[in-house]
Amino acid sequence: MCIFCRIISGEIPCQKIYEDDKVLAFLDIKPASVGHTLVITKKHYADLGEISEEDLSPLIVVVKKIGELIKTKLGMAGYSVLNNNGTAAGQTVAHIHFHIIPRTNGDGLITWSQRSYDPGEEEEIVKKLTS
Ligand code: 5GP
Ligand code: ZN
Repeated sequence: MCIFCRIISGEIPCQKIYEDDKVLAFLDIKPASVGHTLVITKKHYADLGEISEEDLSPLIVVVKKIGELIKTKLGMAGYSVLNNNGTAAGQTVAHIHFHIIPRTNGDGLITWSQRSYDPGEEEEIVKKLTS
């Protein structure tokens, strides 16, 4: 059983924020910022590729609810929503989860390097993705 399934079963404790019949939200044990929350489905799916559309809908609705709750109740300027798919993307727990990371102005928490397209590269990518 994966670590998040063990949290759902109650075998491993968590700091619970929200629970319904399909979804659980709890504090990340190693937060990027105070209030960093994970939102997961109670049914085990590895990632976005695996999850059914039927179960994705309530999951993302709870992400919105908890994001807004964090913003309002913790008085945050904003929040980032992050979902890693696959180890290459940084996924360490193979049970679908959305991170909600509380943000303050200028915290510099989430950055990535940006590049430019070579001539013709954009067209090539669009062709691949639309054919
Ligand atoms: P990922 O890297 O897969 O996108 O995110 C996994 C997250 O799960 C990490 O941020 C990590 O801190 C969190 N995490 C891992 N194990 C536990 C745990 O036992 N309890 C809680 N609350 N969070 C965990
Ligand atoms: Zn699981």
